[in-house]
Amino acid sequence: MVLILDGRKVRDEIAVALRRKIGALSDSPRLAIVQVGSNKESSAYIRQKELFGEKIKVKVAHRVLPVSVSSSEVLSVIGELNQDRTVHGIIIQLPLPDSLDRQRLLDAIAPAKDVDGLGSEHVALRGKGTPYLWPATARGIIELLDFYAVPIEGRRAAMLGRSALVGTPTAEYLRQRGAEVTVCHSQTADTKEIARASDIVVVAIGKPKLIGAEYFRDDKTQVVVDVGINSVGGAALQEEVPRQIIVGDLDFDAVKERVAALSPVPGGVGPMTVAALFENLTEAYERQRMSS
Ligand code: NAD
Repeated sequence: MVLILDGRKVRDEIAVALRRKIGALSDSPRLAIVQVGSNKESSAYIRQKELFGEKIKVKVAHRVLPVSVSSSEVLSVIGELNQDRTVHGIIIQLPLPDSLDRQRLLDAIAPAKDVDGLGSEHVALRGKGTPYLWPATARGIIELLDFYAVPIEGRRAAMLGRSALVGTPTAEYLRQRGAEVTVCHSQTADTKEIARASDIVVVAIGKPKLIGAEYFRDDKTQVVVDVGINSVGGAALQEEVPRQIIVGDLDFDAVKERVAALSPVPGGVGPMTVAALFENLTEAYERQRMSS
């Protein structure tokens, strides 16, 4: 029987552990989320973070800026949050409008408070093999594998997708844990062969159900993590009453027949990303307390 890597279950266990840890502190960590515009999906992700924060008794301050905001106005908000000693972590909800310089804004977050770890200083440290922290999705993926005792060290892993947000840091983390990692992207000619030769396959592409059974051996030994979150609906579903549903990058039903374990969408990496963000926040809080 295929093992389902249940991110909600692991998230709930992490919540219990974090709540206990935070309950023992003299005050509580505080996360600031900066959102530009009112993208519906971003607002839904932020709600998930707020709910998780409530569950573990962490304060989440949500700042919404108008879509017409200039880079310098966002920079001044980030500057204020950097100075605010009651704020321990700052994230900018992505994506940002094209009018804003994403990396410049991410780099403006004080590295000690950059709990998404997307600022250049963190990227450089990871590149040198001396990470300060791992971006939440990469951390969530590794913790999901660890929870289910999936061996990483000495295994072959394929990372499908190489974005700065997911693919690149996840490949680095798998490598740091001793896996032999091959990164595939849109131009890679032999992705299928690479995936079939791997023990662990992580998929972060952003195309609904792109990765089918042909990417996997049929020996029920491979472990697959699906990061994709794609909203599909309307005509594609061929249903009388049109609706939107969330699917991953994997053709889940076809792939599950061939592999040992896989993560579902929703309910796999999404909840793990939220939990890992708050683990990063709690660690950032502890470091700031120690250095003050
Ligand atoms: P992105 O668009 O920045 O990157 C996509 C990557 O996929 C690129 O590197 C591209 O080269 C690669 N790619 C495209 N076609 C490919 C193919 N045929 N084979 C192999 N690689 C191919 O996207 P992203 O920000 O990395 O996000 C990827 C997906 O993960 C999206 O669906 C996004 O919504 C989702 N996501 C989920 C979480 C979560 O918490 N679950 C977090 C972040 C992103």
